[in-house]
Amino acid sequence: QPLITIKDIGRKYVIGSETIHALKSVSLDINKGEFVALMGPSGSGKSTLMNILGCLDTPTKGEYILNGIRVSDMTDNELAEVRNKEIGFVFQTFNLLPRSSSLDNVALPLVYSGIGKKDRDERAQKALENVGLGNRVDHKPNELSGGQRQRVAVARALINNPSIILADEPTGNLDTKTSVEIMGLLEEIHSKGNTIILVTHEEDIAQHAHRIVRMRDGLIENDYQNVEVKSVS
Ligand code: ADP
Ligand code: ADP
Repeated sequence: QPLITIKDIGRKYVIGSETIHALKSVSLDINKGEFVALMGPSGSGKSTLMNILGCLDTPTKGEYILNGIRVSDMTDNELAEVRNKEIGFVFQTFNLLPRSSSLDNVALPLVYSGIGKKDRDERAQKALENVGLGNRVDHKPNELSGGQRQRVAVARALINNPSIILADEPTGNLDTKTSVEIMGLLEEIHSKGNTIILVTHEEDIAQHAHRIVRMRDGLIENDYQNVEVKSVS
């Protein structure tokens, strides 16, 4: 059974008398441990699909089953619970709390899971060590480089052992060298068995993924295994 099953989902937006079909009909199975890049021109529906995959939004037609849970017709509260348990997010703009230390940023998802402070701090410390930032736990985001901030964000995404990592343009704000380092980190996470879905505009970055899905006009145009995966190591 795939980790993600999407069957003929659609998402339309109705604005006044106009209806926009952001997703027309999308079907997709993703197995545990896959590393998928989602590509496509602006307006093709990538964000809409990522929002649905990440349980931030629900489709207006079709079915989405995540880790055996039928999420496509859940209420917002049910969705929030699934999101916190199943999804780790990494964003282009890092989305860290500016006044909080690396440790507190990484520990935050555990607060929502009701885990005690001592346990939270220990797990966050370990998670930061795992991304090479064991010596940056007390630093605030503005005391870190862009690459270091993204490492903090990756540690935060992993802290709850989510079933999928959704990375939306994770290298979009980084220079080439730092982008390669972050892709190396994602490769390492993938090699430990994690499932990663990455949105990127950059062909070079997409080549690190093992499967490439291309969208156009609210449809999947192309979906294939990447036979020449680019590797950092
Ligand atoms: P991409 O991420 O590939 O650029 P999007 O998913 O953002 O594509 O957008 C797909 C289509 O849906 C576009 O035509 C966009 O204008 C429209 N769209 C996206 N979000 C909304 C929204 N909240 N309200 C109305 N239209 C939207
Ligand atoms: P990135 O390419 O990751 O965005 P920057 O261009 O921000 O990194 O920084 C380049 C280098 O300068 C980094 O290797 C980082 O160690 C250092 N650096 C950047 N900002 C700071 C800061 N606020 N405090 C300490 N070192 C920094």
